[in-house]
Amino acid sequence: EMTEPYTSRECDVLVVGAGGAGMRAAIAAAEAGCSTVVVTKSLLGKAHTVMAEGGIAAGLANVSSEDGWETHFADTMLGGQLMNNWRMAEIHAREVIDRVYELERWGGIFDRTGDGLIMQRAFGAHSWRRLCHVGDRTGLELIRTCQDKLVHTAGTDVYMECTLTRLLTGENGVTGAVGYDINTGQFVVIRAKAVVLATGGWGRMYRYTSNSWDCTGDGAAMAYEAGAELLDMEFVQFHPTGMVWPPGARGILVTEGVRGEGGVLRNSLGERFMKDYDPAKMELSSRDVVARSIYKEVEAGRGSPHGGAFLDIASVRSPAEIRSKLPSMCDQFESFAGVDITREPMEVGPTVHYTMGGIRVEAETCASTLPGLYAAGEVAGGLHGSNRLGGNSLGDILVFGRRAGVSAAEFAKTVARRGDISEAVIAAERELMLRPLSGEPDTGPAENPYQIHRALQEAMQDDAGIGRSDASLRRSLAAIGGLRERTPRMRVSGGRVLNPGWQTCRDVDFMLTVSEAIVRCALERRESRGAQWRFDFPEKDEELGRVNFVARRDRGEMLVERRPLERMPDNALRRLPKSRFFDVKNLPRDYAYRLAATVRMEAH
Ligand code: FAD
Repeated sequence: EMTEPYTSRECDVLVVGAGGAGMRAAIAAAEAGCSTVVVTKSLLGKAHTVMAEGGIAAGLANVSSEDGWETHFADTMLGGQLMNNWRMAEIHAREVIDRVYELERWGGIFDRTGDGLIMQRAFGAHSWRRLCHVGDRTGLELIRTCQDKLVHTAGTDVYMECTLTRLLTGENGVTGAVGYDINTGQFVVIRAKAVVLATGGWGRMYRYTSNSWDCTGDGAAMAYEAGAELLDMEFVQFHPTGMVWPPGARGILVTEGVRGEGGVLRNSLGERFMKDYDPAKMELSSRDVVARSIYKEVEAGRGSPHGGAFLDIASVRSPAEIRSKLPSMCDQFESFAGVDITREPMEVGPTVHYTMGGIRVEAETCASTLPGLYAAGEVAGGLHGSNRLGGNSLGDILVFGRRAGVSAAEFAKTVARRGDISEAVIAAERELMLRPLSGEPDTGPAENPYQIHRALQEAMQDDAGIGRSDASLRRSLAAIGGLRERTPRMRVSGGRVLNPGWQTCRDVDFMLTVSEAIVRCALERRESRGAQWRFDFPEKDEELGRVNFVARRDRGEMLVERRPLERMPDNALRRLPKSRFFDVKNLPRDYAYRLAATVRMEAH
């Protein structure tokens, strides 16, 4: 067993993940002259990014002439309730403009204004019409364009249907990764001078999620195990509008573009209930607010028949407009629910959608705390603070994907010789991987990985979901611990070739690690802020507003530490009030005080 050969490959820069972040990183690394390998669990062009609907937020000011990167920066910071890494927010708002035009140069085709400019639509908590879009299929266009560019960039190689499961490290940092080929079950070792993790987010440990099957948190868990730090893990975004009916479709996203195009939310009494929660922004309030509002309406007995709210675009827009602006939504409701959204309202409710937390990285370079390891896209933390604004992720993956690729290439060039890889670590990973196929366990009954996954989903959805308390989080932590103890006994039938049961065993390990980080950080944040809603601490806590929580591994245990937030300098602070939705109540008192002292506040 120990001597089984593995496929071995070498490159300068290894990019794990072929979503927008991974592809953009690989293009940048290869253009910098590095041999670059991209690995993806699915087929090229099928990463989670492909599902993105609403658009890319960028202050082009094509439709709202008052817009610009400063306002975009301000909206992002206020949306994240100033828990964001402000340097990331500034870099993102500035550079996303170039990235959108670059995408256009590479052949991306956006919807147009009458003058032929890139069209921009309204979106939740963005001050102006800012989202560049292609109907409600923006992610598809982004993926198609990046894919076309990638395969035409010299020096890149793509390995599809390959799952990496452990980072290899040496004296000087990361040296590669080990994993398996999904089609053959053979082990694969890739040696590299630098690694970019672009493995996306993690929704699959929740019962209701808009995320695709491969969002199991592999990258975050692998980085954690290798010694990198995880930031802001408590902030899990519930998108307010997922489908709630029929059961098989529950969780599937209903794009915010519906509300961006004028769609209104009503309760069972026909009331536009957002007037009670955020009369200024109404349906276009930030996601955390809208999701909680729907939750509260349902709790108060004013929910729709299947436990959600009604989203109505039919009485606002003509059928032709709806069909041209929201074609995927028309298809989705027609085929899954038999609902014609040009005539009837949709039934919607909160669904786990995005993970603000992730690998802690440096803003400019995307470097993690482990030398040679970079992270970009949803797997990285910091940009979005406690709540991400819709449309800010497609920009994130392009801006920081590119930066991660550039930095990884720079780092790789400083490495004279590829670091050694440890055969012992490879053997240990192989043993872990093969255990589920190794016959009956002698320590107790065999466990089914799908049942453990399901039990984890119950524990996370019910006790670490949209609303949390100390008691519920402790229940969830205990459940995770209990499930963790059962994982060594996971067993599956069949072999290693195309065996999803076998693959799920390792996914379950990753999901347990990431879930533990979510719960431990949520326990420490004894306040409600952004996506974190604590029933037992319903208010913000000024002191906690000045710290991030970081989870890291210490002698085999998960440790959660407070890290002071980096303060924004005055010139960055001054940009904040330009937000149309500026609300002094959202700020910790000292920020508000300084703002009031330095600028004249004006509401547009
Ligand atoms: P992903 O696109 O998730 O790609 C991850 C890649 O890593 C995949 O190729 C995967 O196979 C690979 N991978 C994972 N683990 C491994 C492993 N162990 N080994 C090898 N490969 C691995 N954002 C917006 O800004 N605007 C929108 O309109 C919008 N709409 C959305 C609609 C939906 C339905 C959803 C679910 C999300 C939406 N988002 C939107 C969010 C946005 O799409 C994602 O945050 C973003 O695409 C993440 O990109 P990424 O490159 O970081 O990762």
